[in-house]
Amino acid sequence: MSGRYDTIVLGAGIAGVCAAYWLKEAGQKVLLLDKKGLLAGASGAAGAFLSPRLGKGGDLQRLTNEAYAFALGFYAKRVPEAFFQKGLVRIPKDGSDAEKFRVYEKHLDIPFRLCGAEELPFISKEALEYCAFCFEDAAFVDPMSVARKLVEGVDTAFGAAYTPQKVGGRWRVGRYLAENIVIATGSDSLPVEIPYIKIGGVWGERVDVKSGADIPVTLHRQISVSANIGGTVRIGATHVRNDARSEIERVNDLIVSAIELVPGLKDQRLMRIYAGMRSSVSDHFPLVGAVADMPESEKRLKTPPKSVKPESEEVARIEGCYIIGCFGGRGFVFAPLIGKMLAEKIVDGKIVDLSVSPDRYLLRALRKGAI
Ligand SMILES: Cc1cc2nc3c(=O)[nH]c(=O)nc-3n(C[C@H](O)[C@H](O)[C@H](O)COP(=O)(O)OP(=O)(O)OC[C@H]3O[C@@H](n4cnc5c(N)ncnc54)[C@H](O)[C@@H]3O)c2cc1C
Repeated sequence: MSGRYDTIVLGAGIAGVCAAYWLKEAGQKVLLLDKKGLLAGASGAAGAFLSPRLGKGGDLQRLTNEAYAFALGFYAKRVPEAFFQKGLVRIPKDGSDAEKFRVYEKHLDIPFRLCGAEELPFISKEALEYCAFCFEDAAFVDPMSVARKLVEGVDTAFGAAYTPQKVGGRWRVGRYLAENIVIATGSDSLPVEIPYIKIGGVWGERVDVKSGADIPVTLHRQISVSANIGGTVRIGATHVRNDARSEIERVNDLIVSAIELVPGLKDQRLMRIYAGMRSSVSDHFPLVGAVADMPESEKRLKTPPKSVKPESEEVARIEGCYIIGCFGGRGFVFAPLIGKMLAEKIVDGKIVDLSVSPDRYLLRALRKGAI
């Protein structure tokens, strides 16, 4: 492995893996580094359900459902052996949730149909009092098979926490050199100082159980229960915020909720617990694009930066430094599309929309005079 690259990606979660994949596809020589290993963070814990966002419309719903449609095609084509297109039934949890679903129905921009108890005999009567939405295209993937396939042709090195340094116009990361770095370090502390970005995290667990239950389709009603593939069912996920319970108590409650939804899961045997930290920023949009040099930008943008365009020349950059991530609970949905956006930015200089560009936080911080 030679030590010079076009781009070094730091962090081998699904964000870093998809960024590396698209950069390699664009002809770049890419190195993917991780302090622990492939999918060692949140990505290795994910149920990896590809599900749409319900809501009252708006930009985040539109972007999520665009990413969802893109992800379905992406995994189906590139990793068909790890892509399970079993559909998804979204079930309202009570009467008031059912009311909300009726509003959401008007804003759904992807194919769906209504379905009721007669088609879903394996769900308990108590859990399915109201009409549910069925998304026949929805799927889930096997995270590790996806990652291994996508990094074919990308150099990798695992086992050390890396702190990049700018040396003579290039990035030095450990013993490697590159024109560009991509920060894809999830909820961990950023390896380059970016004072205007605050990444938050929500811990979560999910489990695999063995069961003979006949579950032909994935279900979501507060928790998710996957279709049964070869006797294995995925159940997820917890969202741990100020929770005094132990991991095993939380997991137990998760399994009890799954059995309440699908009584056939009573025979379940717990196989494995997965846990990880989801990362997000305050507006819950993903983060992708070029990193700014905040002190230098403040000097340059003497007037209040209201009219500054995203990714503008007026913003001073940390040359060759990019970031991707903050996918919340939808990393496997967002990563293929957002990874492609990043590669187009790095290779072709394509402008990233302000709704996802880190510049949105730079401009907010500069307006507030945060430094
Ligand atoms: C329990 C649970 C269930 C989930 N279920 C789903 C789901 O069903 N569908 C879905 O789409 N999403 C799901 N998610 C969310 C999804 O897992 C995340 O959005 C996604 O994994 C985030 O990917 P990432 O690459 O940004 O971060 P991570 O996967 O956390 O990767 C970051 C990587 O960076 C490495 N790293 C950190 N610092 C350094 C450094 N200095 N040098 C080198 N390497 C470094 C870490 O070791 C880690 O491997 C779930 C998450 C959890 C926790």
